[in-house]
Amino acid sequence: MTDNPVLAEKSLKGIAVSPGIIIGKAHLVDRSRVKILYQYLINDDHINKEVERFREALDATEQQLTTLKDRMPEQVQEHAFILDSHLMILKDSMLNDSTVQRILKEKINAEWALKKSFEEIRNIFAQIDDEYISNRIGDVENVTERILRNLSGETQESLGAIKERVIIVAHDLSPADTTELNIARVMGFITDVGGPTSHTAIMSQALEIPAVVGLETVTDLVKDGDLLIIDGSTGDVIINPDDSAIIHYQEKQIEHEAYKSSIARTSHLPALTLDGHKISIKANMEFLEEVAAVRDLGGEGIGLYRTEFLYLRSKGLPGEEELFEDYREVAEIIFPGPVTIRSLDLGGDKFASALDIAPEMNPALGLRAIRFCLKEPEIFKSQLRAILRASAYGNVRLMFPMISGLQEVLDTKEIVGQVMGELEREKIEYDPNIKMGIMIEIPSAVTMADVLARHVDFFSIGTNDLIQYALGIDRINEHVAYMYQPFHPAILRMIQTVVNAARDAGIGVSLCGQMAGDPLCVPTLLGLGIDELSMNARAMPLIKMIIRALSMEEARADFENVIRLNTAKEVRAYLSKRMETLIPELEVKSYLDA
Ligand code: PEP
Ligand code: MG
Repeated sequence: MTDNPVLAEKSLKGIAVSPGIIIGKAHLVDRSRVKILYQYLINDDHINKEVERFREALDATEQQLTTLKDRMPEQVQEHAFILDSHLMILKDSMLNDSTVQRILKEKINAEWALKKSFEEIRNIFAQIDDEYISNRIGDVENVTERILRNLSGETQESLGAIKERVIIVAHDLSPADTTELNIARVMGFITDVGGPTSHTAIMSQALEIPAVVGLETVTDLVKDGDLLIIDGSTGDVIINPDDSAIIHYQEKQIEHEAYKSSIARTSHLPALTLDGHKISIKANMEFLEEVAAVRDLGGEGIGLYRTEFLYLRSKGLPGEEELFEDYREVAEIIFPGPVTIRSLDLGGDKFASALDIAPEMNPALGLRAIRFCLKEPEIFKSQLRAILRASAYGNVRLMFPMISGLQEVLDTKEIVGQVMGELEREKIEYDPNIKMGIMIEIPSAVTMADVLARHVDFFSIGTNDLIQYALGIDRINEHVAYMYQPFHPAILRMIQTVVNAARDAGIGVSLCGQMAGDPLCVPTLLGLGIDELSMNARAMPLIKMIIRALSMEEARADFENVIRLNTAKEVRAYLSKRMETLIPELEVKSYLDA
């Protein structure tokens, strides 16, 4: 502690979401509401002018959101859908037309009318008995605040203007904020709100910036310029540390860097267990730009190419040629390794404006992924043509998301057959033996796995969605993030069912949800019999290191014990203890399990 009470050291504990230690100065980001809201009546002569003033604020807001979207850094492009949803809200008549009507009828100023429209929407949302939908009021509020700011001429501090290297302290950071950030200047993030799957968490990982979220009142406790220490591995934050704390954390920082480089140095070694079992390690990727790093990080191929982002990025629908060029390049770069191209998984929380998907009450349960493709065969066929054409240039595998039962597999295969027929007639080359597999991410597909296994070449278990649908929790809702439990016995049993069905039918099974890259989950997955894992490329070196320190025999024996436990808490406690005994030097823990 220092003698100066103003500089007194204070420690806080939050949720660690992106590892690394940093010591630096705080930069407080004020994202509070527009402070003064004037309410006044407008006389008849000025009514049209007031409407015009409102329309100008709408235009300015649209322009700002579009610019933010266009400038989104590559690493966080996958979150562009949030800005799309803000643009949709902006265009919603419940917000804009009704405000204009209020100005005209009630003769009140635009700010007041907008506030009233927002209150009306809030009341409607409050009556909807669905946590996901009612939580979306936050997005409507965000857009309303932006319009209000444009009406008042009040500007929001641009994060792009930050000149020094600082630690950002904010109530929350939206993807729009992250877009503006000058990444070279940001040493870390700490926020009041957020959980392990919040956008700040996902983006800080993608950007490899240490971050701690869920600190509740940190924006009240920290002042601009305060010295901070952040430990993104433990969730510790120290405000105005004394000299001994600074020295202690500097040492930890050096250790962490050494640890990271020791992991990186061994990334090219195979993922071979102590007793000689080889596990195949592959990468999940979203953009063409990522593929080059996969090999350097020790990946044998691409286990999941999420293809949504070309659709989310383009203004209209991407053409077959554009898709083909993209897929061909990935296939050629990763060759002889395989690339598993997953067909469009749009809908849910990912939607493209060009596709005109109607807003849904329960988007996660709506017209998404394979359901959307089967309903829009022309869009589907154009993508299938591109994938099949690319298969002539490398080791391409085709995978379908969100399969709920056999009929969808049969319908899908029929369309693939038609596309193959077309290509043959047009004498266009493709791989006629292309392997076709499905994602197992809906509980009904787990139950039917034995049947499905007879109709496809491989399974890939998508635990991100499987956990969502099996435990009935929205994977992007931070209020239920504590229930996002990969160690829930029901999840482990489901994975076991799928692995057994695949083994009995003699087909391959991999796992490509976030669990595959989570250190504490991996020993259990090995014990379960999974021998192919596909994960965020940056997770590969550490996961390989853990696998090299384990024996398959022990992993299996541990799994026999784990599967007898009845709660996620017991499973996690058992595994943490085992890892502490087996490989204490690696400090294996879970980043996923709340
Ligand atoms: C999954 O659901 O686990 C998965 C890998 O797919 P996505 O995260 O793209 O839904
Ligand atoms: Mg999924």
